[in-house]
Amino acid sequence: MARYVYDFIEGDRSRADVLGGKGANLAEMTRLGLPVPPGFTVTTDACRAYLATGAPPAGLFEEVNAHLREIEARLDRRLGDPVDPLLLAVRSGGRYSMPGMMETILDIGLNDATVGGLAARSGDERFAWDSYRRLIQMFGHTVHDIPPEEFAHELAAVRATAGPAGPSAGQLRDLVDTYKKIFARHVGHDFPQAPHEQLFLAIRSVFASWNSERARIYRRQERIPDDLGTAVNVMAMVFGNLGPDSGTGVAFTRDPATGAPGVYGDYLADAQGEDVVAGIRNTVPLAELGRLDPVSFRRLGEIMATLERHYRDLCDIEFTIERGRLWMLQTRVGKRTAAAAFVIAAQLVDEGLITADEALTRVTGAQLAQLMFPAFDLTGAPEPLAVGVGASPGAAVGRVVFDSAAAAAATGPVILVRRETNPDDLPGMIAAAGVLTSRGGKTSHAAVVARGMGRTCVCGAEALRIDSERGEVAVGDRVVRAGEVISIDGDSGRIWLGEIPVQPSPVARYLAGELDAEADPLVAAVHRLLGHADAVRKLGVRANADTPRDAGRARRLGATGVGLCRTEHMFLGERRSLVERLILADGPAEREAALAALLPLQRADFAGILAAMDGLPVTIRLLDPPLHEFLPPLAELTARVARAEALGEDPGRDGTLLDAVRRMHEANPMLGLRGVRLGLVVPGLFAMQVRAVAEAAAERVRAGGDPRPEIMVPLVGDVRELAAVRDEAERVLAGVDGAPEIPIGTMIEVPRAALTAGEIAAEAHFFSFGTNDLTQTTWAFSRDDVEGSFFGAYLERGIFPVSPFERIDATGVGRLIRLAVAEGRAARPGLTVGVCGEHGGDPDSVAFFAEAGLDYVSCSPYRVPIARLAAGRAAVAPTTGTSDSR
Ligand code: PEP
Ligand code: MG
Repeated sequence: MARYVYDFIEGDRSRADVLGGKGANLAEMTRLGLPVPPGFTVTTDACRAYLATGAPPAGLFEEVNAHLREIEARLDRRLGDPVDPLLLAVRSGGRYSMPGMMETILDIGLNDATVGGLAARSGDERFAWDSYRRLIQMFGHTVHDIPPEEFAHELAAVRATAGPAGPSAGQLRDLVDTYKKIFARHVGHDFPQAPHEQLFLAIRSVFASWNSERARIYRRQERIPDDLGTAVNVMAMVFGNLGPDSGTGVAFTRDPATGAPGVYGDYLADAQGEDVVAGIRNTVPLAELGRLDPVSFRRLGEIMATLERHYRDLCDIEFTIERGRLWMLQTRVGKRTAAAAFVIAAQLVDEGLITADEALTRVTGAQLAQLMFPAFDLTGAPEPLAVGVGASPGAAVGRVVFDSAAAAAATGPVILVRRETNPDDLPGMIAAAGVLTSRGGKTSHAAVVARGMGRTCVCGAEALRIDSERGEVAVGDRVVRAGEVISIDGDSGRIWLGEIPVQPSPVARYLAGELDAEADPLVAAVHRLLGHADAVRKLGVRANADTPRDAGRARRLGATGVGLCRTEHMFLGERRSLVERLILADGPAEREAALAALLPLQRADFAGILAAMDGLPVTIRLLDPPLHEFLPPLAELTARVARAEALGEDPGRDGTLLDAVRRMHEANPMLGLRGVRLGLVVPGLFAMQVRAVAEAAAERVRAGGDPRPEIMVPLVGDVRELAAVRDEAERVLAGVDGAPEIPIGTMIEVPRAALTAGEIAAEAHFFSFGTNDLTQTTWAFSRDDVEGSFFGAYLERGIFPVSPFERIDATGVGRLIRLAVAEGRAARPGLTVGVCGEHGGDPDSVAFFAEAGLDYVSCSPYRVPIARLAAGRAAVAPTTGTSDSR
């Protein structure tokens, strides 16, 4: 029979699929002999069964009861015992951590009878009634969706009338009565008194919350599959709210913002765990615990060192101290900023905890991309308006909005300003450039979630008096209204009125060769890890570059060649008129004159790029787009001609152009006269480009250079197309003195080319996958239209988790790629194969290309370092199909 429940002493961290991350780590800590309250985990299998049928699987609650009895025996306490009641905490925990997303219910087991037992045993009647009201509130909210404000409102009223020591036991008992009435009014029956019923309802509601809207939004954002389900952890309660010698905290084994070594965290005396994460009261730095309770503080330090050695990574923990006794409630490999990820990975190598290869698996291309973002240029900056806690780094500038909906609806960049955030703010946090709160520390909801998604965040800016209803925030006597621009610095926590200019990141400056590798710990870490990636990667990284400047920049960023030089970009601007001449040419003589005028310009372009990439391959693609793209748009020409005619003037050249545009008009230009087809029907066009390449190369050779041009033919679908172009090209090349050998290859960017790659390879010295067009033509997705039209709906419906124009569709398009690589290499052993579509710079896609055996990827210059890192990661830990971003 299937098993759905495991005691903490039965599991270990390798079983996160079944026990969830939290359950697996609780089991691991239990195994390590650390002080974890006894408990058990209900598996994700049980949740999946529940989600499939709407009911818990048969036998689940019997199994839960059996485990519960074991815990009761171990602790010699029973659930529902009015004299010495066992109380339980129920917490969700899926495979991947989803901070604030799922539900927690504490103090299960309290009822009208057991509350007296708790009071007697703890010797604290106020605590007992306070726990009971917490249970009704959490249970009411989680199981029955009762708005938390309803309870909060009553609590605030009681607190307002209470003395400085807080509400009395009597007041809290009355509050419990009020809470019960709120509960009964919303739910239609009384608060359940049977502890086992409370427990089973809590477990069910954790299962159901997997599909809550905010959980689904978070998963989509983080690309976590929808079908994993969550586990449920049931644990004996320990109390941090039993007076000044009790408390609760969150800690990191290193600073999750910068990676700096040293224990770091927040502590809240006389409080329950959820109070810290919710940012309800302001915490004190963890070091303060050293003063309050030196024994627990020392023990905590030892445990954190044990965990870090054991997990060989930064860990974060939640702990509770109950009357001087330390308990571990959770640990996991902690989330961290991109900067901390690099710094920590390098430190752990130095400390001998991980190898350099492993260090590569600890950082992602997406994190490196984030580090290349700019930061504020503070020279001459005004005094900040206020300073909060820098919770997630970055420099964000935007208009102030006060609620999630406004952030989600805004068109330009916005800063979401909230007293504190909760999971309902998620859509706004995703949409905003930055998040600013007036309450809570680095471990508040806002901080944790923003860090996870790489959003700039400043929290706990207590000088801010936020009135979201009126849409304004006051700082001193300055009032900032919705729509005003502010700038926030997620490193230093500073907040400015107005726009502060931004400057490039130190990592970007280092990569551009402007900063020394030892400039700071982050730059040094990036330098080391990229160096190691370069040493281990098998995949080459080239750049898509059309100008000497871009080629030079790409080379400085580590590109070892140009994988795609789009020659159409050289036909723009003033040269457009030369293309017009070519298109409008009347007869061979005019056409040849037009081509002759283009030739020296192209030659100079190529010479510049070949010089910038001296000694490295430069793949020059013959003209690809339809020629009418170089003419004025039909509507504009029509209007110009109509205007001239209305004035009785001769439209002149515009009239001729209009005729040409009409003649060349295509309903589907992407599938029309473009690529190799142009070369075959516009006499002399490709020959001119080939000659320009050869002459530029010959010129470079004469100047002592080492030019390595390659000629690439776009949009080939049949080997005969390529053969015809190649024949002509070779004739031209043979006629240019002093040019080096120039290979001629083809793009593989239509399905027929991939399907007949074996034939095509007979005529091609190399292949380069044009994955933009290959995606377009494989899916029949117009690349210029679909992302703006229906992709939103497709992503929403989970047809695919991310646009196939962004991350390679490994199953469909990827299959064509694998087939073409295999058949191409079978026909021509040693065939060089690369990719030059946008996917070449996408970390997840790079992993796929490495696995598919490509020789290189080519991407935009700025993504070269990201591709280098991703290629290194792929070499040490092939992970096709696993997201880089997690
Ligand atoms: C491609 O199609 O992937 C490609 C690189 O060419 P372009 O984007 O210029 O069509
Ligand atoms: Mg293309």
